[in-house]
Amino acid sequence: MLMDQNEYEEYRAIISALPDMVFVITESGHYANIVGGDCSELYHNADPLKGVSLFDVLPVQKANWFIDRIQETLTQNKLMIFEYSLSSNDVASIDDLSGPNGILRFEGRVNPLKSPRYGERAVVWVARNITKRHQLEKQLLFQSEIDELSELYNRRKLFSKLSSAFTLYQQHNDCYSFLVLDIDNFKAINDTHGHQSGDAAIQKLAKICQVEINSNDIVGRIGGDEFAIIHKNTSPKSAVELASKINQAVIHLSSNDRNSEPQMTVSIGLSQFKKEDDSIDQVYQRSDMALYEAKRKGKNQFSSQ
Ligand code: GH3
Ligand code: MG
Repeated sequence: MLMDQNEYEEYRAIISALPDMVFVITESGHYANIVGGDCSELYHNADPLKGVSLFDVLPVQKANWFIDRIQETLTQNKLMIFEYSLSSNDVASIDDLSGPNGILRFEGRVNPLKSPRYGERAVVWVARNITKRHQLEKQLLFQSEIDELSELYNRRKLFSKLSSAFTLYQQHNDCYSFLVLDIDNFKAINDTHGHQSGDAAIQKLAKICQVEINSNDIVGRIGGDEFAIIHKNTSPKSAVELASKINQAVIHLSSNDRNSEPQMTVSIGLSQFKKEDDSIDQVYQRSDMALYEAKRKGKNQFSSQ
C-alpha cells in the first residue's frame, strides 16, 4: 500500500525531528538518503555525504567494516545493533566545525529495507551518539578494577584473575605460582616518615613489581601494604627467581635513595598451583603461610610452600 503525500510528509517531519542521524545505505555502500541528526552538539552536518559512497569518504578498512555490518544485517534479515568509534577526521568532506570534536562513539541500529534502492538491497542505519555513556562506562569499569594509589588491579579484580588462571590450570595444566608480598615494618615507615611516605613506598613497590614481572604475569594490590602476583611459570625455578629479583630491586632502590627516603624491604610468600587444590583459597592460604614464614625468619626474604 503506497503512502499518500500527507502521510509521506508526516513521516519525513518525524524523522527529521529525531535527534539521531538516519542513513539509507545500499549494500555496495552508496549513501542513498540522509535525514535527522539536526543537533550540532552530537552530530556533524552529513549533507555532503548524500549521493556518494562509503569508499569515497572513509578509510578503506572502516568502509569495509560498514559493508560487512550491512551484509550481516541483510543476511540476518532483522534489526541489528553495532557499536563503533568514528571521528570527523575519519570522514572526508565533513566540516569538522559542524559537530563535536574528537573520537565519538556510536550505536548503529540497522534494519534491512524490503525494496531496493538504486537497484540494490539497502538498509536503514540509525546512528546514535553514545560517547558520554561510553566514557562513563569506561570510567566506571576502570574505577571498579584499579586501585587508585598503586594503579594496579584491586583485590576484587586480582582474585577474579586468580580464579581464571586456576580454571586454565585445571584445563591445560600450565604451571602457575601465586606470590604474596608484604612491606616489612610498614607501620614504622608511616609513623617515622608520615603517611605520604608510606603511600610513596606503596607506589614504588607497585612500579618494581610491574618492571620485574613477565608479560603473562598479573600483579595487584590485595590491600594495605600487601600485594600479589599471579606468575605463569616459565621454568621450575622462575617463581623463585622472580621473588628474589623483587627482593633485590627493593633493596637496590632503597640504597639509592638513602638520603631522602625511608628504607624499605619486602617479604614474599609463594606457592605453586597444585593438582590436589580444589580452589584458589588453598593456593592463597599456602602463599600466605609462606609469607608468614618469611616474616618469622627475619623478613627481607622469600619463602615457598
Ligand atoms: P610486618 O613487617 O609484619 O608486615 O609489619 P608492618 O608494620 O608492615 O605491619 P602491617 O603489614 O600490619 O602494616 C600495615 C599498615 O599499613 C597498617 C596501616 O596503617 C597501613 N596502611 C594501610 N593502607 C595504607 C595506605 O594506603 N597508605 C599508607 N600510608 N598506610 C597504609
Ligand atoms: Mg607489612
